[in-house]
Amino acid sequence: MSCFNKKSIEDIDIDGNRVLVRCDFNVPFDDNGNIANTKRIDESLKTIKYLISHNAKVILCSHLGRPKGTFDMKFSLKPVAKYLSSVLNQEVKMCEDVIGKSAKSICASLKCGEVALLENVRFHKEETDNDPNFSKELASLADIFVNDAFGTAHRAHASTVGVASYIPAVCGYLIQKELSFMGKALSNPKRPFVAILGGAKVSDKIAIIDNLLEKVDALIIGGGMSYTFLNALGYSVGKSICETDKVSFAQEMMAKAKEQDVKLSIPVDTKVGQEFSQDTEFKLVDADKIPDGWMGLDIGPKSCELFSSVIKSAGTIVWNGPMGVSEWPNFANGTFSIAKSIAESNAISIVGGGDSAAAVEKLGFSNKITHVSTGGGASLELLEGKELPGIAVLNDK
Ligand code: AMP
Repeated sequence: MSCFNKKSIEDIDIDGNRVLVRCDFNVPFDDNGNIANTKRIDESLKTIKYLISHNAKVILCSHLGRPKGTFDMKFSLKPVAKYLSSVLNQEVKMCEDVIGKSAKSICASLKCGEVALLENVRFHKEETDNDPNFSKELASLADIFVNDAFGTAHRAHASTVGVASYIPAVCGYLIQKELSFMGKALSNPKRPFVAILGGAKVSDKIAIIDNLLEKVDALIIGGGMSYTFLNALGYSVGKSICETDKVSFAQEMMAKAKEQDVKLSIPVDTKVGQEFSQDTEFKLVDADKIPDGWMGLDIGPKSCELFSSVIKSAGTIVWNGPMGVSEWPNFANGTFSIAKSIAESNAISIVGGGDSAAAVEKLGFSNKITHVSTGGGASLELLEGKELPGIAVLNDK
C-alpha cells in the first residue's frame, strides 16, 4: 500500500526552513481550566525536538475541542503553549490568531530553533471545510508541512490535507511510528497473524471484519458483537445486544472464514446479567444456553482460555475493542484476561481503540505491547484497508 511509504522529517532538508507542524493537542481540561492529561502533547515532543535541533523555525498548529468555527477563549491553545514552554525549556510564542496579523508577524520573525504555536485551527470554519484559500494562507506561513496528528489523519481538513497542496509535506515521528507498525502488520505480518475484535456493534466493524478475513490466519470475535455471531449459529441470545439485520452478514463472514482458511473463534461461554447495569445479578453460562431474559455482558473463563491458546501461537496480534462491558468491574475480566495474554505473548502486538488501550494501561502492560495506537478512528480506517486522506497527501519516498 502506497499509504505506508511516505517521506518523514528525516527525508527532507529542514535546516533554516519554516516548518508548519500539525499536532494533536486536543487535550482534556479539568474544572479549573488546567490540562488534565498532557499525554498527547508529550507524545509530540520527539518531532518538535528533532526540528529544533535541526535548526528549523517551528510553527505548531492543532485543533482543540469543537469551537464551531468562531473564536472562543474556552478553546484557546494558550495553556498548551505554556506547558510546551516549560517542557521544552524555551519560550513557545503564542499567536493570537491562526492566519491573521499576529500569526503572520510572529512566524515571519522566528529565528532558527524558535517555536511558535498558532491559535486553534477550528476557530475558522474553513478548517473543517478544507477550504482552499484558508489552506493556502496557512501554507504561506511555512516552507514545509509536517503532519504528526495521527488521530485526525482520517479527516480531510485544511490543516491535515489542504495545506499539503502548496508546500512539500512529510510525516513526523508519531505518524511514522503508526504507519510502520500498522503498515507492516497489514502488508507483511509475521505469521500466524491473529486479529481480535470486540466492542459493541458488528455494524461498526463490518468493513474491518471483511478486510481482515483476507489477511489474517485467525480472527477472534468477542464483546457485544459476538452475540450476533452466536445468533447466526442459531443460538438464542436472550436480551444480549444483537443486531438482527446483521445476522446474515455474520453468516457470510463465517462462510468467508472457512473459504479463506481463517480460524474464526467466538465465545463458548458468557457472563450474563439480568439487566444492563453494573450491579446487576450475574452468572456464567455456556454460549449456546443463554437463558431468556438475561444478557451477555462479558466472555466467560472457557472463552478466555480458548482465545488465549490462539493468542499464544501468534506471530502478530492486532486487537481492537473490549470483550465485554469493561468499564464495569464485574464484567471486565474477559478484556483484562485478553490484555494479559497479549502482554505475555512474544508476538508483535498492536492495540488500538479506547477501551482496549485503557485496559492495557490500567494493568500496567503498555510496555509489553509493541505498539499502542494513538488514534481510534484513524486506526480503525487503516484496519478497514482505507487510505487515510491526511497520509495520502504526504510526499512519497
Ligand atoms: P466500541 O466503541 O465499538 O469499541 O465499543 C465499546 C463499547 O462496547 C464499550 O463501551 C463496552 O461497554 C461495550 N460493550 C462491550 N461488550 C458489550 C456487551 N456484551 N454488551 C453491551 N455492550 C458491550
